[in-house]
Amino acid sequence: MLHTPLDGEKSSPVAAAASARTVTVVTFNDNARVGGNTAKRRGGTVAAVGGGAVGLGAIVVLLISAFTGTDLTGLLGGGAPAAPQSGGEAIANCSTGQDANNDDTCRLAAATLSIDQFWQERLDGYREPQLIIVDQSTSSACGTASNATGPFYCPPDETVYVDPTFFSTLREQYDTTAGPLAQLYVLAHEYGHHVQNLTGVMQEYPNNGTGPDSNGVRTELQADCYAGAWVAAAGEQVDENGTPYLQPPTDQQISDALAAAAAVGDDHIQAEAGQVTNPESFTHGSSEQRTRWFDAGRQGGVNACDTFSVAGSSL
Ligand SMILES: [Zn+2]
Repeated sequence: MLHTPLDGEKSSPVAAAASARTVTVVTFNDNARVGGNTAKRRGGTVAAVGGGAVGLGAIVVLLISAFTGTDLTGLLGGGAPAAPQSGGEAIANCSTGQDANNDDTCRLAAATLSIDQFWQERLDGYREPQLIIVDQSTSSACGTASNATGPFYCPPDETVYVDPTFFSTLREQYDTTAGPLAQLYVLAHEYGHHVQNLTGVMQEYPNNGTGPDSNGVRTELQADCYAGAWVAAAGEQVDENGTPYLQPPTDQQISDALAAAAAVGDDHIQAEAGQVTNPESFTHGSSEQRTRWFDAGRQGGVNACDTFSVAGSSL
């Protein structure tokens, strides 16, 4: 599926910035080999709620791991999360960079090769998470994954769940173009949570509630920073033939990814919902913080991403 620019007029400053750009589709090198990805498509049915054995800790982690601060209480459904399904289908028609350029699902699947390679080079003991492309809805160890939940990382099953229709939501509800690099920023952010799980950050800084300098916000901003670090190096990872998976991002693509980061800032989401901005309820950080930490990673790499040692006033 090719991306089309935002249609219709939007009123927010974020939309004004986003709609001034056209989206460049080409991101992958057409001849890069991406068929080795292990992403799976799963779902197509509404999973039953209940029957899982996952404790409250997993649910709390899930709440901070979702990409936006949108209300996920519906996900929890008042019962225990459903037991995760296994299996799923390999992503069809996804063997070259050209396939990845032409299809949202293949793009996400292909990008896992680049992101995994990035982290393998930087983190001893890195192991690949699973990427599940959610078709309507499927169960995870953290509850039911669907478009309503947004993309998230589930620590107990070390799996990233993304329903690609979320990007339509980004365009329509959060007023941003959600072009190819913005989509990969979202994916890299969730992989950042996987890294936090592996490094022990999630365990060391458990979610301690909301607020502008809460552990939750620090965790989210670090994931944004990790995503920026990968974006800066996205032209460096290569396939088995030495062909870079991705072309170095253009300034326009980076602007698009930054616009996505701004669009999902807690203050912007609250404003879109007609609410007064309330930093005490922040879970992911403001638009300004999310774009600034994404940029910190882009400029300084993963070593620039220690959001936990920064004083709250300069977070
Ligand atoms: Zn997150």
